[in-house]
Amino acid sequence: MDIQLFKAKYEVDECLSEIRECLEVGWTGMGFKTVKFEDAWKQYTGLPYAHYLNSSTMGLYLAVDILKEECGWNDDDEIITTPITFISTNHAIAKSGLKAVFADIDDTFCLDPKSVKEHITDKTKAVMYVGLGGNTGNYEEIVKICRENNLKFILDAAHMTGTRINGKIPGSEADVVVYSFQAVKNLPTADSGMICFKDGRLDEIVRKKAWLGINKDTYARTQNMGNYKWKYDVEYIGEKGHGNSVMASIGLVQLKYVDRDNAYRRTICNWYRERLEPYSDKITFVRIEKGCESSCHLFQILVDDRDALIVALNQAGISPGVHYIANTEYKMYAYGKGTCPHADYVSSHTLSLPLNLYLTRKDVDYICDEVIKFIGK
Ligand SMILES: *Cc1c(COP(=O)(O)O)cnc(C)c1O
Repeated sequence: MDIQLFKAKYEVDECLSEIRECLEVGWTGMGFKTVKFEDAWKQYTGLPYAHYLNSSTMGLYLAVDILKEECGWNDDDEIITTPITFISTNHAIAKSGLKAVFADIDDTFCLDPKSVKEHITDKTKAVMYVGLGGNTGNYEEIVKICRENNLKFILDAAHMTGTRINGKIPGSEADVVVYSFQAVKNLPTADSGMICFKDGRLDEIVRKKAWLGINKDTYARTQNMGNYKWKYDVEYIGEKGHGNSVMASIGLVQLKYVDRDNAYRRTICNWYRERLEPYSDKITFVRIEKGCESSCHLFQILVDDRDALIVALNQAGISPGVHYIANTEYKMYAYGKGTCPHADYVSSHTLSLPLNLYLTRKDVDYICDEVIKFIGK
């Protein structure tokens, strides 16, 4: 047996023919397919703006950086965030010179609205929200808290491609939404991401900042276009952060199938629940909010002896994962250690069972048999 946690499944022939087109026309860079992918993404999500980037890490950083600059935030101003996330989320805050203030999570494993409220100070400027595993948690309540307290709402939607709340893709409530199309996410490319600002002016800024600050439009707009095509101005010390047409080719194809793929992910999660819920005295499940149709990026459970269960599963040829160790356990964020008890509990008890599109009912039964054998001991 060799059952992996994640294994991306691609529409190989279709992807190759999109990429072939890039190679044949001699354009693999920004533009061409990246523009098509941005348009397709806007149509799919209903969000008004989208800029394609080389990763969501870059997107999260640019989101905080641009909001800081445009809203006039100071160094050491605060963003309330979760300890249970991939480190990119919190690095984006720290790298921009702001302070990541950790609030606790609730039984949805997303930020607890009550804890968020308790952490608001004069310095709080925004909430960084992660839809963990594709679940929305108390999304709507967090949106409300942000509105009431005049805070920006940043959505790390790395796990949320295809997630819906009451049938609608969430995100229009946020000041900025950042998606990941990294190699193991629900819409895999290899590496890339999308940043979607609510404000078109900020979308214009991110297009410059993600391309070294280059403003290609300056002269195109104001001068004799044909003769000055080569000329541009540089308005920021920007990043090399934009996406390319090879990744966008894969994204364009995979986007067509992501709802179908997520439906199968949900089927797998239902199989897991069907088999494991009878053991709910020993296994805790993530609570899914009413109205949330999760992308099912992860299937997480909590057990008493998590580390031993991982060893037992490994011995049975199964590779589970951990999402995540509380970021306050890491040296860079140790100042938050011990402030979020529920997050600490999840950090030391959670594991993610394999969830990928190659899994069959038989695989899921085999995995569940091994889990049940372990907890029965
Ligand atoms: C994967 C992930 C990221 C980073 O995405 P990249 O595209 O790899 O940069 C950010 N946040 C969360 C929650 C993630 O899971």
